[in-house]
Amino acid sequence: NTEIPVNFIQNIITEDLKAAKNNSRVHTRFPPEPNGYLHIGHAKSICLNFGLANANGGLCNLRMDDTNPSKEEEEFVESIKTDVKWLGYDWEDRMYFASDYFEKLYQYAVQLIQAGKAYVCDLSAEQMREYRGTLTEPGKNSPYRDRSVEENLDLFNRMRAGEFASGTKVLRAKIDMTSGNLNMRDPVIYRIMFAHHHRTGDAWCIYPMYDFAHPLSDAIENITHSICTLEFADHRPLYDWLVENVDYSDMADGRPHQYEFARLNLSYTVMSKRKLKLLVEENHVTGWDDPRMPTISGLRRRGYTPESIRDFCERIGVAKASSLVDKALLEHCIREDLNARATRAMAVVKPLKLVLENYPEDQVEFLPIENNPEQEGSGMRNVPFSREIYIEQDDFMEDPPNKFFRLAPGKEVRLKGAYIIKCEEVIKDENGNITELRCTYDPETRSGLPGSARKVKGVLHWVSVLHGIQAEVRLYEDLFTKEQPDMEEEGSDFRANINPDSLAIIQSCIVEPILATATKDDRFQFMRQGYFCIDSVDSKPHQLVFNRIVSLKDSYVK
Ligand code: ATP
Ligand code: MG
Ligand code: MG
Repeated sequence: NTEIPVNFIQNIITEDLKAAKNNSRVHTRFPPEPNGYLHIGHAKSICLNFGLANANGGLCNLRMDDTNPSKEEEEFVESIKTDVKWLGYDWEDRMYFASDYFEKLYQYAVQLIQAGKAYVCDLSAEQMREYRGTLTEPGKNSPYRDRSVEENLDLFNRMRAGEFASGTKVLRAKIDMTSGNLNMRDPVIYRIMFAHHHRTGDAWCIYPMYDFAHPLSDAIENITHSICTLEFADHRPLYDWLVENVDYSDMADGRPHQYEFARLNLSYTVMSKRKLKLLVEENHVTGWDDPRMPTISGLRRRGYTPESIRDFCERIGVAKASSLVDKALLEHCIREDLNARATRAMAVVKPLKLVLENYPEDQVEFLPIENNPEQEGSGMRNVPFSREIYIEQDDFMEDPPNKFFRLAPGKEVRLKGAYIIKCEEVIKDENGNITELRCTYDPETRSGLPGSARKVKGVLHWVSVLHGIQAEVRLYEDLFTKEQPDMEEEGSDFRANINPDSLAIIQSCIVEPILATATKDDRFQFMRQGYFCIDSVDSKPHQLVFNRIVSLKDSYVK
C-alpha cells in the first residue's frame, strides 16, 4: 500500500521532503523490546512506521530494543518477527539489535566523558532522588559532578571491567540540575548490572539506559523520523541533547528527530506487556496466543486477518491526544473483511433432531448452496440432505410468542436451500424434554423449483444427521467486564475485572461435511451464528475445534 496516509506525521514528512531535509530520505524504525508478545497497540506503531516508509519511498528497520538484559528472551524475538511479517510488512535485510551497538554506545559514552559531558557518580539511588529535586524545586549538583576527565575515564573503564558492585556507581550525563525538565537533570546513562544478556551473554556488566541507547541507536541506523508514544515527549530534549553532543561520524546525512503520537487504548482490554504477561503466568488465559488476548498472535489464532488489523489501524488514525478506542470498531473491521470473503456454511451449535416422515428412508439429495452471495464467482457447493436433519434447539418453540418466525407445532419454515417443512408432532422423554420433532416436507418447494416461490417467514440452517460431523466450538466474550479494566480501584487491580465468562466451550456442535477439510487459513460464516475458523492449535482432523472470530451482530456506532 503506497497511498499517502493522512496524519500529522505524514505532514511533517511532506514538509521535510520539500525542504530536502536529511537529504530527502525517510527512514523509520519499529523498535520493540523483546520482553513479551506484540499486541494490537504495537500493530498501530508497525502500520505507522512501515506505512510511512512505504508511502514515501523510504525504509523501515526492525530493531530489537534489547538493552535491558533481565527481561528479554529469544522466544519473544521470534514471535515479533513472525507477527510483523504476518501483518504484511518487510524489513528486508534491516533487522537490528540494539545490543549489537553496545561497544559503539560505550565509545559514545567515553566521548561524552572526554568532552566533560558525563561523569561517574557514586550517589545511591535514594540520594540521587533527593538531589534531583522536584518539579517545583531545582536539583542540587552531585558531589561527584566535578570529577576530572581522567578519573571518570578510569572509573567508567573499571565499571566495565566488573570492579564495582551493582548499584554502587552510574554514569550520568552532565546537563543541568536546575532544568525545568527532570529528564535533563544529569540523567543516568549507564548502570552496573551483573546480568546475563540473551545475545551478548556475560560480556557486559554495565548496560546503557533506554534514554541513552535509543536516540543513539536511531543515529547509528540513520533514522530520520523516530516515532514514539506520548509518554516520551518529556524525553525529547534529552534525545536532542544526545544526538547533538555525540559525534557519530557514521551519520550519512542529517540527524534523527523524535515525534510523539498517542498510544492505542482499546476498551474492555489491557494493553501493557507487563499485564498481559501476568494473565499468561497466572493462567487466566492459556497463553500469549489465547484467542481472547489482544496480542497479534491471539488475534491471529482467533481468526483475525492481517487486512482487518491494517484497516483498523488506518481507521483509528494517528493523533496527538490519547483516547479510548471502542473495541466494537476492531470487530467491525473483521466483520467487513469476512463478510466479503468468508464461505457460508451450516453448523448447528445445539442440535435438535427432526425427522421428515414423508421423505424416503434411504434417499440422499445433494442440494446446491451458494458459497458466498457477497462474492461473485464463489460458486455453489452440494450439501447432502436426507430424512433426518438437525436444526438449532433455539429455532423451535413449543409455545411461541407472536413474532416467533421459526419452527413451532403446526407451523412452517424453510430449510435453507432445501424445502418448506411443517412441524407435525413433538416427541419428549419422560422428563418432558423435547428429544425429536416429527415433520413433513413439501416436495414441490425445493429451492429452484416453481413451488419454492411460496412464502414462509423463517429460514433455518440445518445439517443432515447422516452426514454431519461433530465439532467443538469456542465462543469468546471480552476478557474484562470493565470498559477500562486498568482504572484500578482501591485495594484491587485489573485482575479483579477479569470476566469469568469470557469462554464458552460447546462440544455438541454438528457441522456440514465440507468443514471436515477446513484448513487454518479458511474463514467461514456459520449461517446465522457468526464468523468462525479452525483453532490452529487444538483442532485435529477427527476432532475439529472452531473459534468464533466474531458474532454477526455489529454494535459499532459510526
Ligand atoms: P508495553 O507497555 O505494552 O510494554 P512498550 O512501549 O513498552 O509497550 P515496546 O516494545 O517498547 O513496548 O514498544 C515498541 C513500539 O511500539 C514503541 O515504539 C512503542 O511506542 C509502540 N507501542 C507500544 N504500545 C503501543 C500502543 N498501545 N499504541 C501504539 N504504539 C505502541
Ligand atoms: Mg518500551
Ligand atoms: Mg513496557
